[in-house]
Amino acid sequence: MSATMGAQSPSGVTVTDVCVVGLGPANLALAIALKDAGIDVTVLEKEPSFTWHREALLPGTRMQVHFLKDLVTPRDPTHPLTFVNYLHEVGAFESFVNAAHTTATRELFHEYLCWSADAIKDVCTFARTVTSIARCTYSDLWTVRSEPAGAAAGHGDVGPHEVRARVVVLGVGSEPHMPGGVARSRRVLHSANASQLPGLQDRIDGPIGVLGAGQSAAEVLLMLLRRHNGTSDFEHYFHPYGMMRADDNPFANELFDRTGPEVMFGAKDSVRSAWRSAHANTNYGVVDADTLQRLYDTIQDHRLAGGARYTAWRGSTLNAVTEKDGHVEVLLEDHSGKRVLRRVALLLCATGYRPVDLRPLLSDPSLRLSWADGAPLLTAHFEAVDVLGRPIENLLIHGAHAEPSHGLGVGLVSNIATRAGAMASRIKALLRTGRAA
Ligand SMILES: Cc1cc2nc3c(=O)[nH]c(=O)nc-3n(C[C@H](O)[C@H](O)[C@H](O)COP(=O)(O)OP(=O)(O)OC[C@H]3O[C@@H](n4cnc5c(N)ncnc54)[C@H](O)[C@@H]3O)c2cc1C
Repeated sequence: MSATMGAQSPSGVTVTDVCVVGLGPANLALAIALKDAGIDVTVLEKEPSFTWHREALLPGTRMQVHFLKDLVTPRDPTHPLTFVNYLHEVGAFESFVNAAHTTATRELFHEYLCWSADAIKDVCTFARTVTSIARCTYSDLWTVRSEPAGAAAGHGDVGPHEVRARVVVLGVGSEPHMPGGVARSRRVLHSANASQLPGLQDRIDGPIGVLGAGQSAAEVLLMLLRRHNGTSDFEHYFHPYGMMRADDNPFANELFDRTGPEVMFGAKDSVRSAWRSAHANTNYGVVDADTLQRLYDTIQDHRLAGGARYTAWRGSTLNAVTEKDGHVEVLLEDHSGKRVLRRVALLLCATGYRPVDLRPLLSDPSLRLSWADGAPLLTAHFEAVDVLGRPIENLLIHGAHAEPSHGLGVGLVSNIATRAGAMASRIKALLRTGRAA
């Protein structure tokens, strides 16, 4: 590794061994593993500081992964950045153990992630949106260009910033998905901003519509029903007959083991695709058993007490949303095929997330990447593949973008620690052989 790595020249160009783009849990685990391996790394993140779905973390909601599957434990249980060590350091170890949970609350896990990110802050640059990744003209390095993001954009730091790196790793994750033609507004929200709901619920007068039947929809409904203020009733629009329970049986959970992505990748296309649809109910459009039960009980409590009315529009499809006279008009097709117009004060779309579109970032013509259905083709080791089917060993893409090839587990938290360890080892070998320069 070169002695000039990680240095910023007066021209604003930083040269590094590895440029990590995006700092969600996946790249946080990777940046820690790279630092552990003594590799020079620069992380670029568009948010002003580390955050993990900050506005979606409703009080009391819990992680859907065991607390031992943190950023490092499955790779190295003796690491200083384990969740258990975090609990110990902040004086929460005994209370967590006393409560005997196998999962952390999302807020607590978020605090743990922030604490871990703080430990690598010397290699992180925040408030920079990466806009392009291209090969350098006169060397084998990559040029990663970024622009100031958010508030930073208006405060002096305006010019494009360049990082030159021997290896680039993209882990830019997913972004909120709205139904086609529906725009977010003050009265039409995505569950990514669910923490705004209590304030809105206190101010509005009229029914609240919730679209979707997955975990976020159930959590939002439960929270709103529990803090019901007497004025809002609830309309719930969703496709299935009833909300469905997440499959968390231990056999299905093996999908999220360290070997899950490798086995998925090795499966022939028809088997991989059958596995993806058979096990979608471990994560998509489903709700954990505890939340489902609490939601059902809360709805019944309201019914008996004459509290909030809850109406399930089962088997319904959303056709259009219009804002009119301080209300939201929701045009549905109901289960019988009839068109129905509902008028609500607020519409919450719990309609999930989609991988960030990588095509603008990777549009450099010299790259000539292979794509399928908008996702880059990858090797078993998360290397991009060119149009001739050759791996580009020093351009790695992981997280949600690898789900088509590596299965459900790679977009979630479950195996980020072991994946990070394996990726760091390969990157170290690549840098040693000089093939990445
Ligand atoms: C409310 C909620 C709860 C969840 N709970 C769980 C759970 O309990 N268990 C579980 O396994 N999964 C859970 N998930 C799934 C979740 O997506 C993953 O846990 C995790 O966030 C994936 O991590 P990631 O690092 O791959 O992507 P992300 O977390 O999406 O991180 C990507 C990062 O890249 C940054 N970025 C994007 N584009 C750019 C750019 N151009 N330039 C610079 N930076 C960029 C983003 O700002 C972000 O910080 C949950 C998701 C939500 C929404």
